[in-house]
Order: sequence, then structure tokens, then C-alpha cells
Amino acid sequence: MTVSIDSQGTRLDVPNQLFIGGRWVDARSGETFTTMNPATGEVLADVASAGAEDVDRAVIAARAAFETGAWRTTTPSLRGRLIWRIGDLILEHAEELARLETLDNGKPLSVALAADIPLAADLFHYMAGWATKIEGNTISMSIPDATFHSYTLREPVGVVGQIIPWNFPLLMAAWKLGPALAAGNTVILKPAEQTPLSALRLGELIAEAGIPDGVVNIITGFGETAGAALASHPGVDKVAFTGSTEVGKSIVAAARGNLKRVSLELGGKSPNVIFNDADSSAAVAGASLAIFFNHGQACTAGSRLFVESKSFDSVVQGVADIAKNIKVGNGLDPDTEMGPLVSDEQLQRVTRYIAAGQDEGAEIVVGGSQRGDRGYFMEPTVFVNTNPQMTVVREEIFGPVLVVQPFEDLDDVAAMMNDSDYGLAAGIWTRDISKAHLLARKVRAGTVWINCYHAVDAALPFGGYRQSGWGREMGHEVLNAYTEVKSVCALL
Ligand code: NAP
Ligand code: MG
Repeated sequence: MTVSIDSQGTRLDVPNQLFIGGRWVDARSGETFTTMNPATGEVLADVASAGAEDVDRAVIAARAAFETGAWRTTTPSLRGRLIWRIGDLILEHAEELARLETLDNGKPLSVALAADIPLAADLFHYMAGWATKIEGNTISMSIPDATFHSYTLREPVGVVGQIIPWNFPLLMAAWKLGPALAAGNTVILKPAEQTPLSALRLGELIAEAGIPDGVVNIITGFGETAGAALASHPGVDKVAFTGSTEVGKSIVAAARGNLKRVSLELGGKSPNVIFNDADSSAAVAGASLAIFFNHGQACTAGSRLFVESKSFDSVVQGVADIAKNIKVGNGLDPDTEMGPLVSDEQLQRVTRYIAAGQDEGAEIVVGGSQRGDRGYFMEPTVFVNTNPQMTVVREEIFGPVLVVQPFEDLDDVAAMMNDSDYGLAAGIWTRDISKAHLLARKVRAGTVWINCYHAVDAALPFGGYRQSGWGREMGHEVLNAYTEVKSVCALL
């Protein structure tokens, strides 16, 4: 069973099966669902629709692979080398994987090749190094008249369910799988229904890398069925989720039954701040990248732009000029800078938000409409004349829609930045580096970018304050999310 794709990137041969216990198997129900090309609205492929019975099978396979020790007792050195090999195989198949992402998700091929694929490979390469560096401590105790030898062991959590979204399909799979594997866990991964293809191909590469059977299981299916069954399964020790805050809350509820560990990477409404003393062309370009990268379908999208009053008009003009000139089109076209939104549903959702913004009295400077009559294209859109109560200012739109607001001084803008249920990221543009670091301390956000935006790295922890999530991914911080600490205390 192979996923292959012709040189035009249009004919696909993908497994319409589930990857369980190292084998490709049909869903028990025999059911499948279609995945679409959002640039054309046409069907790309049928994939298997996993149900609760298939989740059971995958949990049994993952449990067996965990308990036999096929993975966790493999030497850390070999574990690291096998994880490294996954990264190598991703690079060897970069072109093919990038095409799968473009076809299934809509993003420009140039972006998938420059960002998604190399970042996914780098994540595996970075995490491969951690396999040999997971350590405990020796601890001095203060109980009188006794001598103890006490130490901690860091052990894998066990069987981990991982549920990921459609905005960076392969990269999100890498963020989840890399650290779980480095720490010795076994995994059941469920990609998003809109974008299952690259995860299926990754399943084949994982087998080719030599990861033992059952260590990674990949099940395609719907959130309400396969995802919910995984989140509530009593045989799953931990669930790691990336997606909407609303579904994140249902994951927490589902995990309650066996008190499985939960880590969450959720939504955002991230503020981006431009001071008068910023390098104005870099700031304007950065503010545009912050919201329009990945068509605004990024949890860290800089969707609330705050501009110091004196610069307000020129920044709005600058961002609007960039927005007007972004080439929107099919991601396979080399000139395309912005592809379609991922689905008709997402296009309708963004369209509803734009209408709500207008109804509530906000003013559109540029964009605001769907593009073309085929595929799910949306114009880059900029709103001004907003107030802090408006829906477009408070809620995550997850599309190329920016709201711009003026501010007077640092305290003023710090309060505006923090006036949100979310706390994922923030951007600050200024030449006054002390001011930037002062504001970085005031903002409640998991990542603060100064004179840059969307700079992510396998070594840099990533995650949210408040309703943007629980826990951190990447960096060495992520190992806390995939290990348990055991204290061993011996009376000598
Ligand atoms: P979502 O519904 O939260 O989906 C994310 C993942 O969770 C998908 O794999 C989904 O499966 C699964 N899921 C859905 N309901 C579930 C349930 N009850 N139990 C277990 N798993 C479940 O996100 P979405 O529908 O793709 O997008 C909606 C909004 O979520 C976006 O507009 C945006 O606000 C936010 N979002 C955030 C991120 C992020 O990176 N933080 C990424 C994507 C979306 P299905 O594929 O079948 O739905
Ligand atoms: Mg698709």
C-alpha cells in the first residue's frame, strides 16, 4: 500500500486504510469519507473512517507495543537514531509531501516546501537528540538520624492519543509524535478530517524508518467519533490535542473518566503592537505576515494590530497596500502567495465573521469578499473603526482578517493586549529594546516576538496562557508533557 502522486500532483493513490499495529487495515465498518482539494472543490481521495472499534484496536496495539517494551526499553541511542531517520525520510520525500499538503490543505507549494516540510523534519531531528538526554536527579533528604539514597526516574507516560488540526497537517503530526517517541511512549494519532493525506504518507515513512510495529498507529476519521473515542478511552494514559478552544474543553471533559493526562494547544487572538519608533517598513511587512501567513489559519495569527496613534494612518495604508497585492490562487501555481481556505465550512465561517464586523459598525479598508466561483478563496481583509466589544475583535476568526486599533502609550496598549480570553502569542515592533522587553513582561502570552513574527523553532517552547492551552510543546519543556516522574527512596 503506497501513497503516490503523479508529477502534476493531481492523481493520488493513497491508502484508504488505517495504520494499526504496523499493518494497513480497513475500518471495521468499511466506511470511508472523502477529502477535498480546497482550490477546486473536487474530491482528492477516499480515506477510511475509523469508529470506536478501530480506536479499541489501535489502543490494544499501542498498549502491546508499550508493555512488551519494544520501544521504551530500546536503547535511547537506537531510539534517537530511528527518530532521526524519520526526519531524514521526510527530507528525502519533501517534494511529494509538500504536494500532498498543497492539494489537501490549499497552502502554496512554495510555503509547504520552505516551512511545513523542513520544520517537520527538523522537529524529528531535534527530538532525536533528546532520547539520550532524559535524566532524573539525585535528591538530598533532611529526615534526621537516617541516610537515604534518593533519586528520580523520568519514565514515559504510556499510551498517548494525539488529535491534530488541518492548518499544518504534517508539522502538527511532527510536533506531537517527535517528543512522544523520544520519551518512549506509544501513540495513536488522529489527523483532521480535512487533511488526512500527509499523515497517511508519514505512517509509511515511519514504518520504513524501522519504528517497531504498534508504536505509532494512525487512524483517519471524524472528531465526533474517532476523536471522541480516543479522548475518553480508559486504555489511553494521555491525550494531546491541538485545535479549537471549544473542542479542547470537550477533550478535558472526556479525559475525566480515567483522569488521563491532558495537554492542549488551542486558539488565540494574538496582539501585535507597532510603536512610532519602529522600523516602519519592517513593521508593516511583519504585521501583514503575522495575519496573512497560512491565510490567517494559524493559532498564533497576529489578528489584533495595535498602532501608536501618530503612525496609525500610514500603517493601515501600508498593510492595505500589501493585502491588495497578495496573489491569491491555486497553491500549485508558483506565483501564488495565498491559497484557498481549507474548506467551504471555513470560508462560510470567515464570511460570517466579516458580515458580523460590518453589522457591528466596523469599517473594511480592503478585502471582505470571496474570490472566484470555484474553490474556497477569501480576500485578505483589514478592519478599522472597531471597539473592544466587537465580535471581530474578541473571537478567533482563523482567516485572513485583521482588526487595527490605535493606542496612546505602553500601559494603555498592555491593557488592550491582555483584554482577551486567549494568551498564545504577541508581537512588538520598536527600536527601543528596553521598552520591548518591559512590554514582553506585561503581556500574558506563551510566545512574544520582538521585531519579528511567526518565528518557530523546535528548540523554542510553544504554548498558551489562559484559554490558549495547557502545557508547552517543543524545546526541552515538552518532555514534561510526555513523561512521569518517579521518586525512588532507599534507606541505607
Ligand atoms: P477542531 O474542531 O477543534 O478540530 C481539531 C481536531 O479535533 C480535529 O482532528 C477534529 O476532528 C478533532 N475533534 C473535533 N471534535 C472532537 C471531539 N468532540 N473529540 C475529539 N476530537 C475532536 O477544529 P476545526 O473544526 O478544524 O476548526 C475550527 C476552529 O478551531 C478554527 O476556526 C480555529 O478557531 C480553531 N483551530 C485552531 C487550531 C490551532 O492550531 N490552535 C487549529 C485548527 C483550528 P475533525 O477533523 O473530524 O473535526
Ligand atoms: Mg482536503
